Amino acid sequence: MKRFDVIVVGGGPAGMFAAGFAARQGARVALLEKNARCGEKILITGKGRCNITHSEDDPRKFVEHFGRNGRALLTALYAFGVKEVVAFFEEQGVPLKNERGGRIFPEHGEAADVQRALETFVRDAGVTVHTGCEVKNLLFDEGVVKEVETSIGTFTADSVVLATGGLSYPETGCTGDGYTWAKACGHHLITPEPALMPVTLSDPWTSEVSHFNLKNVRITLCVDGKKIDERFGEAFFTRSGIGGPIVLDMSSRIRDALKQGEVKLLLDLKPAVASDLFDKRLQRELAEHSNQDFANSLGQLLPRDMIQVFVRLVGIDPKKKCHSVTRVERQRLLKLFKEFELHVAGCEGFRRAIITSGGVSLEDIDMRSMRSKQVKNLFFAGEMIDLDGPTGGFNLQECWSTGYLAGVNAAGRQDNRSDITTI
Ligand SMILES: Cc1cc2nc3c(=O)[nH]c(=O)nc-3n(C[C@H](O)[C@H](O)[C@H](O)COP(=O)(O)OP(=O)(O)OC[C@H]3O[C@@H](n4cnc5c(N)ncnc54)[C@H](O)[C@@H]3O)c2cc1C
Repeated sequence: MKRFDVIVVGGGPAGMFAAGFAARQGARVALLEKNARCGEKILITGKGRCNITHSEDDPRKFVEHFGRNGRALLTALYAFGVKEVVAFFEEQGVPLKNERGGRIFPEHGEAADVQRALETFVRDAGVTVHTGCEVKNLLFDEGVVKEVETSIGTFTADSVVLATGGLSYPETGCTGDGYTWAKACGHHLITPEPALMPVTLSDPWTSEVSHFNLKNVRITLCVDGKKIDERFGEAFFTRSGIGGPIVLDMSSRIRDALKQGEVKLLLDLKPAVASDLFDKRLQRELAEHSNQDFANSLGQLLPRDMIQVFVRLVGIDPKKKCHSVTRVERQRLLKLFKEFELHVAGCEGFRRAIITSGGVSLEDIDMRSMRSKQVKNLFFAGEMIDLDGPTGGFNLQECWSTGYLAGVNAAGRQDNRSDITTI
């Protein structure tokens, strides 16, 4: 039996923060991770660049992005908020920069630098890291975790932090194990659901245009012809549909809308220009190319690969001379630019969801310390708790803040009878 002050289960961002900061408090800490290395999921965040946090550094405004549960995050954010995260990564040799929409990324590097910086942090703090170590079960007795059974033997500790993540991208190790143990010892579970997921379309051509970004576009969500949401920003087609920040942020509404009726997305490729003005622009383009084939007239308006799809969908003979394009045909073209109809078939599930919504109920966690209200030496951190934010770095910030708070408090509890330190 291996004995520690604190055991952290799960070596993602939340678990690595919990372990490192618990060790910095002087606790003997073991971090148990079933993958061959910690932070596997970090490597794929932000398309390999890792959107570490968001520039909104006022905790009260930050938590508004988490909906009705957001306020629960306040103590953690005051303890270790955006400013502390930026300072932390700079100290670890990963300077950050602010990008469009308040997204904060590593200045020079990529997600791999973030993962390596966290490994170094954990190691330098003196944490004993066991990778390739799958936790199989938690044994409870008299309201405390007594033992942690793993594939490499049994561990025991005064405090245990669960940071096993959710169910999204299961190939990164997230198989919901923590939910099972939390439920088994009396915690209420809000049904985990995939969130921030790409959308599948029945339009078969998306794979032809899946390699470039649609920047500064507007997407409107319609159910049975009624507009119910709209977003402005970045999106991209995928092999089977559409993804990117504005689609991901709307995806839970899209999933609900699919239960109500026929769902379409209207893509406005030129949202800064009103339809009548853009029609004049089209007239100018067609006039300038009047003796050329229609297929060769759209170069100023669209990326090259998109032109082929446009020409096919608009139903104008590509060889028709521009001067012969009729008004009705031009109106069809205008509609494609301003109200391109995309037919929603469904939402991707956990396999491609960025995060999992739901999880361990906040009712069962003292959010001032991240300690369980059911099991007195158990703490929670990260995605496995019932908090989920939009894209933009909000979800990782939740992991840093709750990981820090859980780690510090777990370390403060080296004997199960003493009181918790709240910050
Ligand atoms: C494609 C993608 C891109 C993303 N991009 C961003 C972004 O740019 N910015 C952002 O803010 N968020 C992003 N996210 C979300 C972010 O990655 C998650 O919110 C975050 O990783 C959750 O951290 P966590 O520590 O709670 O859990 P995880 O990162 O899921 O880590 C949990 C760890 O626990 C381990 N584990 C599970 N069960 C066991 C067990 N039984 N025994 C031992 N170990 C176990 C797992 O192997 C895993 O390593 C992205 C997610 C995805 C999938």
